[in-house]
Order: sequence, then structure tokens, then C-alpha cells
Amino acid sequence: MKITFLGTDTCIPSKGNDTASYLINDELLVDVGWNVTGNLREVGTEVTSVHHLLFTHMHHDHMISFPSLIFHWTQIPPGRDVSALNIYGPDETLIDAYEGALAFLQARRFWPNLKEPKIFPMKAEDEFETDTLRITCMPSDHAVPGRCYRITDKRDGTVLGMSGDTCYGERLAPFFEGCDLLIHEFSGGLSNVRGLPTKHSSAIDAATVARDAGAKRLAIVHGPLEAREKCLEAVAEIYKGELVRPEPRMSIEI
Ligand SMILES: [Zn+2]
Ligand SMILES: [Zn+2]
Repeated sequence: MKITFLGTDTCIPSKGNDTASYLINDELLVDVGWNVTGNLREVGTEVTSVHHLLFTHMHHDHMISFPSLIFHWTQIPPGRDVSALNIYGPDETLIDAYEGALAFLQARRFWPNLKEPKIFPMKAEDEFETDTLRITCMPSDHAVPGRCYRITDKRDGTVLGMSGDTCYGERLAPFFEGCDLLIHEFSGGLSNVRGLPTKHSSAIDAATVARDAGAKRLAIVHGPLEAREKCLEAVAEIYKGELVRPEPRMSIEI
């Protein structure tokens, strides 16, 4: 499985980075950050060659460039045809976010004959497939409805776990059991953020989930990157697997 980190940062990304977002096997986008079209071109991927877009949840920093992605598709000849794009996300919020993106673009005024993307609102434990991947969901525990994902490469069985945004919970480790790579948020850094209404994880929470899941590798993202090395020192006390240090636009094979 090929994983390209389009962004690794928090809500307001630092220069040269973007909010945590990924391209898997060059066919599945997970979240879009602030500049999805620019990020894809930076990594040499034609925007309209990616036919699957998956949202972890609909907080702004994970979807703010959703309208620009749709706009890009409408401008590619023969034009006004986004029907090859499949969009998946939590069923509680996906349609509102999609309609909001269309409203921002004034799509029904500018393009009355728009061929719209296919929208797949996913229930809590849904599953779907792309050409090379099988994606399984579990509800996250965040301030808005969200999903954690277990993504399996159908060709060789490698597994990627993605926490999305979530606070710690004992359900996480069994869901990610035995994964080859766990990408886990660490918004709280080294602070204990359990019980806070923002419902995020710390680096310690990420390490605990990775250890209990038996994850082979762990990448912490969407947290205070300036403190990442200090956080990883604390992580290494708990989690003994391989630590991956993703940089923006970096690709890895697992
Ligand atoms: Zn969030
Ligand atoms: Zn977030």
C-alpha cells in the first residue's frame, strides 16, 4: 500500500504543510485540508485521476478546500462533469457539507446541467471498496460525528489504521488490531486531554492505542509538530514498534 502524506499539520497549517490529509494508492483521498488541488499536483497526481474522496468528519480544516476540488473537476473538458468522483463520509453530516460546497460555488446557477458526484453517506459501521482497497468504518468519539477507518489493500492484505480526530477509547485498539501502520492524531501533545469537550487525543493516547493494537508502525499527525520529537520520546516509552516521521508530500510503502 502506498500512502502519500499531503499534510500532517493541525487546523492552521504551517508554511509548506497542510492539515492532515492523505492519498492512498493514488486512488483514495482522505480529507482535503486547505489546498487539495495544489497538494495533488505537488505530488505529481492529476486531480481528476483520483475518483474516491473519503472524509473522516466535517470540521472545517478537514474539508475547507472541498469546493475547490469540485470546481477543478467542473473546469476539465468536457466540463461540468463530476460524475466520476465518489464521495464518502459520516451520514450525519456529509450531505450538508456537500450542499454547502455547491451553494458556495453557486453551482446550480452557473452549471444547471452539472453532472454531480456520487455521494455515499456512510453509517457507523459501513464498508466500501475501491479498485485496490477495502475500507471499514467505526464511529470516532469527537466533538462532531466522525469515523475511524481501517483500510486494507486487497492485493496483499496490508492494513492502514486511521484515527481521524477522536479522543481515546478502549474500542480503538481492537479496531486497529495488527495494522501495518497506524496514523493517529496527537492534538493534545503531551497534555492529558481526556474528558475535554474538544475530544482529541494526546501523544500518550496514540502510543497506548498503537501498543494495545499491536500496530507495526505508528505515525503521529495533526498535533503540535514543533514538539513532535519530545512527544515521540514519550511515545517510545510506551510503544515499542517503528516510529514513522511523516513530512508533507512524503510517500511510503507499507
Ligand atoms: Zn475535528
Ligand atoms: Zn482536526
